[in-house]
This record gives sequence, C-alpha cells and structure tokens, in this order.
Amino acid sequence: MIDMPKLSLWDSSAEEPEYAAAMDGDITTDLAIVGGGFTGLSTALHAAERGIDCHVLEAKRIGYGGSGRNVGLVNAGLWLPPQDVRAKLGEECGSGLIKILGEAPSYVFSLIERHQIRCEATRSGTIHAAHSPRGFRGLARRAEEWHRLGAPVDLLSREEAAVKIGSTAFHGGLLDHRAGTINPMGYARGLARAALGAGANISTGVTVQRLRREGAAWLLETDRGTVQAKWVVLGTNAYSGDLWPGLKTIFTEIYFFQLATPPLGDRANGILSEGQGLWDTGPIMFSLRRDAFGRLIIGSMGKAIGGTTGLSRRWAARTLKRLFPDLGEVAFEEAWHGPIALTPDHLPRIFRLGEGLYTPMGYNGRGITPGTIFGKAMAELLSGGQEADLPIPITGMKSATARGLMSRFYQAVFTANQLAKSV
Ligand SMILES: Cc1cc2nc3c(=O)[nH]c(=O)nc-3n(C[C@H](O)[C@H](O)[C@H](O)COP(=O)(O)OP(=O)(O)OC[C@H]3O[C@@H](n4cnc5c(N)ncnc54)[C@H](O)[C@@H]3O)c2cc1C
Repeated sequence: MIDMPKLSLWDSSAEEPEYAAAMDGDITTDLAIVGGGFTGLSTALHAAERGIDCHVLEAKRIGYGGSGRNVGLVNAGLWLPPQDVRAKLGEECGSGLIKILGEAPSYVFSLIERHQIRCEATRSGTIHAAHSPRGFRGLARRAEEWHRLGAPVDLLSREEAAVKIGSTAFHGGLLDHRAGTINPMGYARGLARAALGAGANISTGVTVQRLRREGAAWLLETDRGTVQAKWVVLGTNAYSGDLWPGLKTIFTEIYFFQLATPPLGDRANGILSEGQGLWDTGPIMFSLRRDAFGRLIIGSMGKAIGGTTGLSRRWAARTLKRLFPDLGEVAFEEAWHGPIALTPDHLPRIFRLGEGLYTPMGYNGRGITPGTIFGKAMAELLSGGQEADLPIPITGMKSATARGLMSRFYQAVFTANQLAKSV
C-alpha cells in the first residue's frame, strides 16, 4: 500500500482495495492510456475486452484526479437541459448524445453489477433541488423535455421535495429515477480491477513527460522509461497540464469542495431518507448526500479553506443548520476539493490531436457517466469503429477566453460566498 495522504473521504472509506504497480523498464503496447480515472480506466477495460493490448500510465494513484474526489452523483444527461444540448449540437448529434448519456447511469450500474464493484451503489435517483421560484421554472422546463423523451423523472412540488429532502428550504425539485450515487473512489478502483482482469496493464506513479510521433508510432517519455504505442488516449481532463500544447487552455479550471461528518446514526434519518443525492439550481451550486455509513457529505464550488476546522467548516455547519434546524451541532472529519474542467459552452469534447491520438475531456463537473461512456467509445473506435460513431463529433481545439483570469475570478467569488454564508 502506498503511504500518501488521503485524497477524500472516498479514499478512506472505499471497500475496493487500492492497486499500485511501478512501471518496469521500457514498454511497447498497442494502446497507451494516460490517466487512471474513469476515462482512462473505462478505455482500458473496454479495450482489453476487445483484445487490444493496452497500458494505463497514472502519474499518482488510481482515482487521484476528479474520479476519487467527486460527489458520486451518477447523473443522466449533461449540465445543460436536453433542449439546449440539441440547440448547440444540432438536432441529430444533440439527440444522439442525449440518448446515450440518458442511458449512461444504467450502463455504469450494469458495469458495477457485472464486475461486482464495491462502491456503495444506490439507485434511488438524484434530486436537482430548486433554490428559488426561478430555479423551479428551470426544472419544470427540463422535466417537460425529459417527459417528452420518455425519461422517468418526477417534478416535485415544494411539499413533495420537503418530504424527500427533509428540509422546507427548497422550492421543489426534479427527481431523476435513472440516476443514483456511488463511492467514486470505489468505482475507480473497481474499474481498475476489472480492466486488469480483462488483460489490461496499469502502472501507477509514472508521469508521462513528453509525447511525440516516431515513425508510425507514438513515443511517450516518462520518468520511468519509454512507452511505444500505436494509439494513445489521454484521460487527463482537468489534470491535463502541459503534456499536449494548448490542451489545458480549452477549459476554465474551477474548484469544488466537500466536507463529511462522522456517521450520524438516527439523528440524520430524516435527511434524504431514501438515499438520493442532491444538488441545487443556485448560481453557486451546493451538493448534499449521505454515504453508506450515515455520514452527510456537503459541498459547494470553491476550495476547502481551512480543512475541517476553518472557513469551509463554518460554511458547512451554517448551511446544514439553515437547511435542517433540528439536526443540532455536527462535527466534520474530512474536507477536500478538486478541479473541474469547465468548457465555454458546457459541452464535453473529444479531440483528435494527431493520428491515433485522442482525448475525451471537458466534462463540466459531470464525468462519471460521460467518462465511462467516452472511454468505451474510444475502445470501440480503436477496435475498428468509425469516428462518425463517437457520442460527440470530434472538434478542433479552441481556447477558453481569459481562462486564467476567469479561474481566479471564480475562485474569489466562491470564497466570498463561503465567507458570506458562514456567519
Ligand atoms: C469535487 C468534484 C466533484 C464532482 N462531482 C461529480 C459528480 O457528483 N458526478 C459526476 O459525474 N462528476 C463529478 N465530477 C466530475 C468528475 O469527477 C470528473 O469529470 C471525472 O472524474 C473525470 O475523470 P477522468 O478520468 O477524465 O479524469 P481524472 O479522474 O481527473 O483523472 C485524470 C488523471 O490523469 C492523471 N494525469 C494527468 N497528467 C498525467 C501525466 N502527464 N502522466 C500520467 N498521468 C497523468 C492524473 O494524475 C489523474 O489521476 C466532480 C469533480 C470534482 C473535482
């Protein structure tokens, strides 16, 4: 076991054991996959199942990126309402993507079942809660379109939402029965186990430093040796760094933080009692869920400031008190954060960076389902599929405007929000 600080509650509580293996000498493989998160591991699992020799190279640990730090909401569709996805991508592409990602939670849960991944999976849905009457009208618009598409979603009145959430603070909600929650680190480790079982290779603690074409192959220079591969998939998303020129400029980096209470026992039984995960319609979104042990996990945009004792703790305690006045004082035992890759149009991307070199990314804080599905699509493409069959068309790279400035601006706004809501 690697002796490193825990990344998140999920890192401490995941039942799936961690897999770690050093890279041993130079390697030749068909497919090199950079990044050991949902995208890279799903690519590896599905590629290995199709008989492709593949090797995952992870700089730190499995699930080190967003995959081991997130809220664990296994949601259907994208951040954008389905009608907005169609408006941006066109009728045919937009409808195709909505269909695939609408069915994606079901696919994720089928993988969990098939590979017996121990990740606290619940399938009681997620609730998008209205923070205001305007937020509720937005949810009604989403509900109308999902109903037209035949999706099992319920628009909850204020009273119905209060019963499910255990708080009268919301103006209604949208309950999506396709969705659910997981321990995301457990899912990442389980995907790694499944990929290894299917024949993939995984090395951890190996950083890919340079990537260049050499003859008909790609040469990856790492701090542990070289890797020669016919194809490369970069599954580095918000952690993309400088490995490929310009890649990190296509998104704005924003942070999301969370704090977890200890198991609360009967005290919290009335909060999200059916086990749904929740996020709200507020401009500075917040999230709330339970884990399998009765902890409450609360989060919002920004960084975890002051760990379990500082500003973010005060924000979390104050927010829980506002929502659930009867809960009483609670302690917090974990606090963590991670970056999200926000694209200017809130749509994910698949880039072809060179011959046989692809990267799916830009999940806008919703990567469990797209990461899994896009990884599978990569494997299908490289085992004889067509680019035209990818879930989203390949596009050219376009930098997000003033991304560094925007990141700093957002961070300042999110910190001000924590300050304002912690007194
Ligand atoms: C706090 C937070 C909450 C979120 N909540 C949710 C949620 O509830 N539901 C949801 O669907 N999504 C959520 N997301 C988004 C989701 O976690 C991400 O979209 C998803 O994890 C992306 O997966 P990935 O595999 O593409 O990238 P990551 O999981 O970020 O993995 C990238 C990996 O690449 C590695 N890497 C980078 N560069 C190199 C290199 N040069 N060499 C080797 N390895 C390298 C990194 O170490 C990292 O492990 C959240 C994200 C955050 C940060």
